[in-house]
Amino acid sequence: MFSDPMNILVVEDEPGLRRALVDLLTGDGHRVEAVEDGPSAVERGTAQPFDLILLDLMLPRLDGIEVCRRLREVRPGLPILMLTARGSEEDKVRGLEVGADDYVTKPFGARELLARVQALRRRAKTATAPIEEIEVDDCRLDLGHCRAVRNGSSVGLTYREVGILRWLYDHRDRAVPRSELLEQVWGVPGDLRTRTVDMTISNLRRKIERQPAQPRIVVTVKGVGYAWGDG
Ligand code: CA
Repeated sequence: MFSDPMNILVVEDEPGLRRALVDLLTGDGHRVEAVEDGPSAVERGTAQPFDLILLDLMLPRLDGIEVCRRLREVRPGLPILMLTARGSEEDKVRGLEVGADDYVTKPFGARELLARVQALRRRAKTATAPIEEIEVDDCRLDLGHCRAVRNGSSVGLTYREVGILRWLYDHRDRAVPRSELLEQVWGVPGDLRTRTVDMTISNLRRKIERQPAQPRIVVTVKGVGYAWGDG
């Protein structure tokens, strides 16, 4: 079974190992690009949104530490797995300090490498997962479990209510028209004539707002629709 496919950049100057890494990762279902020196790694790694970079420490012209530092400036969230023949603690610490996420010491087994690649990917994904909990105006919105907690008492939220909160929160820099909520949360055409959005928001306010008549979380924007109120 293939693992979660990724776009991976392999940076390794030794041709035999480079080929082996490309074969191994391609065989595991990933799309792989390979380069053989530091400057090319920086160039490709900043130009393309790779899911992960496999970076050799000892490279001609620009070493892995420096490549890592430069990539981090442009792509702080990019998972970087360092490869090295040196297993010293000092190198490991240095690599992690400049922003490598994990370290594999050569020689390594195929299975170990693939496992490390997957583990790193999972960690990166978890860190960038859509927000599940929001604290606002003394109310804790636990979107993952469809509930809101205020003053210690918990009330259940429907998937539509969670969908509204998520959409407004994700677009909190602007007001969101009713038609957009209909399309995005209900999945129906935005020009549908219905009071559903207003009714659902009215119910939602009774659950989450301190004073539903003077909402501070889901606020009305006259002539437009609704907006995230930030408490
Ligand atoms: Ca090398």
